[in-house]
Amino acid sequence: MRLPGGILREGVLQRDVRFRPVTGALDLELAELSAVDRPLPTQVTAILQVALESLAGEPPSAERVRELCVGDRQWLMRRLGVHLGLAASWLTARCPDCDEPFDVFVDPDALPARSPSAGFPFAEIETSLGARRFRVPNGGDQEALEDLGAASEDEAYVALARRCAVEPLDGHGLSAEDLEAIDEALEAASPEVAQEIGATCPSCGSTSSVSVDPYAFLSTTTAAVLSAVHTLASAYGWSEAEILALPRVRRDLYMEMVSAGGDAS
Ligand SMILES: [Zn+2]
Repeated sequence: MRLPGGILREGVLQRDVRFRPVTGALDLELAELSAVDRPLPTQVTAILQVALESLAGEPPSAERVRELCVGDRQWLMRRLGVHLGLAASWLTARCPDCDEPFDVFVDPDALPARSPSAGFPFAEIETSLGARRFRVPNGGDQEALEDLGAASEDEAYVALARRCAVEPLDGHGLSAEDLEAIDEALEAASPEVAQEIGATCPSCGSTSSVSVDPYAFLSTTTAAVLSAVHTLASAYGWSEAEILALPRVRRDLYMEMVSAGGDAS
């Protein structure tokens, strides 16, 4: 796979990325991780570190995963959901016109991602201090902001701008207009994963957009793995280790047989 953005190494964007093959061991590691309660940016770093086999041609250390821009991390999390077979699903939305609920099929594999700008991962921005270069925010910035626990959104914007400034801002202050310009320019420079899909209401025919969470599969991972272990252990008397050692395809086939009412005992 190729990352929409990539990691800059010696002036070249490295975009190659590969997930580990799907096995019970990977499922279990991810299920255990997703059961831990911690801030989302830290969680995403931990999950990608476990799920990736290689990142930009190297082993996926936490440090390298933090270097990925936010758009790449969201893209990877969505691809991971597809890789694990957990992502395509139905969402229930409510029509803004007639207020009727309806189901929308979401195929995350088909959701578009906008390419980054030519200067990625940098953007030159006109500020009250003159033209300054900033790099787009990455996972490390997200984790640092989480740790900072900024009291307000403005405080978070200032902290982020300082972290992302290529030449240190030192004691120089940024105006509210600067912060707005920086925020807009960095967003435009970043690759972006679509977080909304168009849907047509079957009752009145009006079209609207439905939001799709790039991290949605996180909440289903643990439940799906544990439910498979429970169902197959009850039906066949296998141990947890035996069930997790099954290739995903065979585990799913057994799950289908059990739910089809086959009496295994
Ligand atoms: Zn409607």
